[in-house]
Amino acid sequence: MMDFIKNHKSTVPFAQLKSLSVVYDQKGEQVEAVRDVSLDIRPGEFGVIIGPSGCGKSTLLYVLSGLLKPQEGEVYIDGQALTSRRNDTTLILQDYGLLPWKTVEQNVALGLLIRGYSKGEARKRVNTILTDLAIDALAKRFPAQLSGGQRQRVAIARSLALKPRLLLMDEPFSSLDALTRESLQGLLLDIWEKTKLSILLVTHNIEEAVFMGQRIFVMSKNPGTIINIVDNPMAGDISYRGKKEFYDGCAYLRSLLQ
Ligand code: ADP
Ligand code: MG
Repeated sequence: MMDFIKNHKSTVPFAQLKSLSVVYDQKGEQVEAVRDVSLDIRPGEFGVIIGPSGCGKSTLLYVLSGLLKPQEGEVYIDGQALTSRRNDTTLILQDYGLLPWKTVEQNVALGLLIRGYSKGEARKRVNTILTDLAIDALAKRFPAQLSGGQRQRVAIARSLALKPRLLLMDEPFSSLDALTRESLQGLLLDIWEKTKLSILLVTHNIEEAVFMGQRIFVMSKNPGTIINIVDNPMAGDISYRGKKEFYDGCAYLRSLLQ
């Protein structure tokens, strides 16, 4: 069984951006990536950000993970102003970010060892999580010996091993084929239901947003702003995909994005 730290019951948002603006400096030229973005993720909520390429989705995740300081605005995690990277927040990228010279189990253990866990403790946690994600048979393989879907499972395992309370995911399934993507979406929902951690997933895929996002933050580009927040109470229900409401939701979201 997974034994993650459950989020405290709370009405306070777990993660919050207030009036955020980010400007990149590109060889002296100022690129305004996002402007005046405010959003919050409640404890245990599954939020999705959707928007066209270049609208600043990744930028928002970098800010929330403490990797990037905004020029303007405020960032709070668990009620505290964010000043640097936090142990309870992890970020999963599209390209998995696995070290090619380390095996699956070594990749998954890495974050734990960096955080000072003993080898024995790390091994125990790694074994549990690999079994939970059905990749224990791959423990001794190297990333090059895995399919895309298996690699992303390893990346998810590596994040979950840290028992995060906030999981940030940047287009995690976009380079996978449709069937693999659906199976990983199911896996993620399963994890979310068991752990009740807060998730913020970025995608440009309309079906993925509607299937998974309890609240969908819709962005426009240049500079990126949030133009709509869609409540989507049926998200996360596996049977949702076959229902008329699902297709209506996709059509509605598509209309907002056009
Ligand atoms: P998205 O993830 O939605 O595709 P990004 O957050 O990656 O968008 O980028 C938002 C905008 O900021 C884009 O116009 C992009 O070109 C620009 N940008 C991103 N990173 C940098 C950077 N390091 N330097 C300059 N401009 C950047
Ligand atoms: Mg991006």
